[in-house]
Amino acid sequence: MSQNNNLSVGAAQVCVLGYATTGAREEIPLERSLGRVLAEEVRANRDQPPYDVSAMDGFAVRSADLTSGGVLLTVIEDIKAGDLPTKTVVSGQCARIMTGAPVPSGADAVIRVEDTRMLSVDSVEISVPVTAGNDIRVRGENMREGEVVLQAGTEISPGVIGLLATVKRASVPVTCRPRVAILSSGDELEALDDPFDAGKIPESNSFALMAQVQALGIEPVRLGIARDDPAELATFLRQGLDYDVLLVSGGSSVGVHDHVRPTLEALGVTLHFWRVEMKPGHPLVFGTRGGTLVFGLPGNPVSSMVCFEQFVLPALRRMMGHPTAFRRSIRATLAHPIKHRPGRMEFVRVTLASADDGRLVATSTGSQSSGDLCSMARADGLLVVPAESGYLAAGDAVRVQLFDGSLYQHAAGFVKENA
Ligand code: AMP
Ligand code: MG
Repeated sequence: MSQNNNLSVGAAQVCVLGYATTGAREEIPLERSLGRVLAEEVRANRDQPPYDVSAMDGFAVRSADLTSGGVLLTVIEDIKAGDLPTKTVVSGQCARIMTGAPVPSGADAVIRVEDTRMLSVDSVEISVPVTAGNDIRVRGENMREGEVVLQAGTEISPGVIGLLATVKRASVPVTCRPRVAILSSGDELEALDDPFDAGKIPESNSFALMAQVQALGIEPVRLGIARDDPAELATFLRQGLDYDVLLVSGGSSVGVHDHVRPTLEALGVTLHFWRVEMKPGHPLVFGTRGGTLVFGLPGNPVSSMVCFEQFVLPALRRMMGHPTAFRRSIRATLAHPIKHRPGRMEFVRVTLASADDGRLVATSTGSQSSGDLCSMARADGLLVVPAESGYLAAGDAVRVQLFDGSLYQHAAGFVKENA
């Protein structure tokens, strides 16, 4: 399996996505569906609007009567939204009508109330001429009965919820979310509620990973901290293998205290790769057991988060039913040079700012040490330095994967900008 060592980022992503199968389908109440993904297309239950309706509060008229302004008409009826008209409008007549109310037969235009003047209870002067169709929303203009209004794979946003309510869907077919477990490993780790110990390292990865998973709309489970002891690790890993996705941070390298790989194998996990040509994040283990995906993430806090971004996020999105698995990557201009030797793809934490000419300028957040979370906390995204790239100069065009935002894309987008 040596060919599975030192994969490129792209090859490793293809491998991971090959095992990330879309979840089963479930029906959930509409009001609980925000952020979920439609498992089926949705069709209109009827024409919308269901008949020709007024777009204004005003009067339904016959345009043939109103080739000029200053015409007097008799008001024969008052039609509110929700009412059905009972009379036909003939020449010399009109009906008072409210926004959304059906246009009565005989009428072919609406005059807004601001262009009229009441002379008595049933007589109105129309000040302006009108053409047929004015201020009428025609039947089926928004959607036709049976027409697909939402595709499978659509993320349910507030607008989508409004549309689903319009087509009377009280419950919605969505893709089940994967169940995710998070485990930290390492003798040196100090839990958040442990007393301060100068010799220990505060355990942060499980919190950052929790938040990365939560940001995708999934509520993960934290299993705790496993010591660098194969038996203890196995106990925790066994629990984690009951989930759809298990994230283990630390202990996945080749040191004498790194037991994650052999312990996973002993538990029947098939390892697909354990090293990726990237910086940060080189020692990354990926394996599967049955339908469970296991990621052995590097212990260094930034490496763990960057590996999540590149591999776990696309897998989770795919499992959730999103057609677009990857973070949006945008073009930016580099503010300063970046040293890079061809070899590994590098992810540089950057901030983005708009220049006067509208271009986005990417600036490193400082130390790019894989242990320095300060630079991660301040970053807007990850600047991608392609593996084959050499030194990058100030002013070069680069790609930045955005951390934030609701926009995602189909491909990883590791485009070499200055090629
Ligand atoms: P490892 O991958 O186990 O060799 O760990 C690499 C580095 O990451 C070491 O300095 C660890 O102390 C640190 N580290 C490992 N796990 C965590 C964690 N859960 N939180 C914070 N730092 C960690
Ligand atoms: Mg360790």
